[in-house]
Amino acid sequence: MTNSKALFIHGAGDIRIHDFIPSSPKSGEVLVNVAAVGVCGSDLHYYKDGRIGGATIDSPFIPGHEFAAHVTQDIPEQDIQQGELVAVDPAAPCHTCEWCRRGHHNLCPSVEFIGAPPFNGAMTGALSVPRKSLIKLPPDMTAEQAAMLEPLGVCIHAIDLAKPKLMETIAVLGCGGIGLGIIQLLVKSGCHKIIAIDPQAHRATKALQLGADTADTSITAINKSTDCRGCDLVIEATNSPDGMQDAVQAAAIGGRVVMVGIPDGDTYTPFSAAQIRRRGLDVRFSRRMGDVYDRAIALVAQSHIDVDTLITHRFSVENSADAFKLQVEGAPGLIKSMILPNQTMKH
Ligand SMILES: [Zn+2]
Ligand SMILES: [Zn+2]
Repeated sequence: MTNSKALFIHGAGDIRIHDFIPSSPKSGEVLVNVAAVGVCGSDLHYYKDGRIGGATIDSPFIPGHEFAAHVTQDIPEQDIQQGELVAVDPAAPCHTCEWCRRGHHNLCPSVEFIGAPPFNGAMTGALSVPRKSLIKLPPDMTAEQAAMLEPLGVCIHAIDLAKPKLMETIAVLGCGGIGLGIIQLLVKSGCHKIIAIDPQAHRATKALQLGADTADTSITAINKSTDCRGCDLVIEATNSPDGMQDAVQAAAIGGRVVMVGIPDGDTYTPFSAAQIRRRGLDVRFSRRMGDVYDRAIALVAQSHIDVDTLITHRFSVENSADAFKLQVEGAPGLIKSMILPNQTMKH
């Protein structure tokens, strides 16, 4: 039996679990049963603020864009069988606008994104999704690993923009699921030295385990580690309004900064323009991802990247409000939560 409950965000701070009947699939769509869906920092912003910038929750909304699901019918033209586990790319860009035609699908202003309002997401038992968004998986990939392909894709896109160089000094600010994925990709790219910063001690410790050379709970550690020179490259993956200021201060003269995180309240703390301007920093903003699923699958399937180690908590849909509350509280030990809508809970 498919779970007929869903997690709805009704507005800032207002989560309710109630019944949801998925719309029957339109032409070009297929109904899928959700196997695993990750709780992302962006889902948390919808919960805390009721919006991310102009994307506001005007009516009860189901979040969830990082997910794997079982397909409910054969799709022979895509070599997908009924019951097969797939990942679902949440982004359906228009493919016709100026930015899509230039290859920047991630910047499409007309994108329909599953789990960004007004498009309901996957924190429920079943939903209809575009067939062309299904991503075929290697046979032994688990549902949780498949749900991690989307956030891993965000990490790959950030690395593509950052273009890390061998032996340069790199700071990663924020060691949640994204920061820790980025650290693993930097290690895989042969980078030293990697300085990881997160105010939560367990996350800093995890960064060390995953290959960071230094990890600390305070940004001041960067000055200590670099003799006040700063880092050649800073990758920011926090949810803090101070994230941009911290990233800029952590960068060396002429350094590069890649901003991946979404700040609470959709605002950056004001800081001195001279910090960026006089030091000639190269600042880039990373938005979702390009066409990176093939590489994300290869990294996980060939065990180059460990996504399982990032998953610390599991919830049913019925208990899923706790996933949001614990993450907002910064619960000890929590890195990434998974919601498993159609599974008898073991945890
Ligand atoms: Zn996400
Ligand atoms: Zn477009």
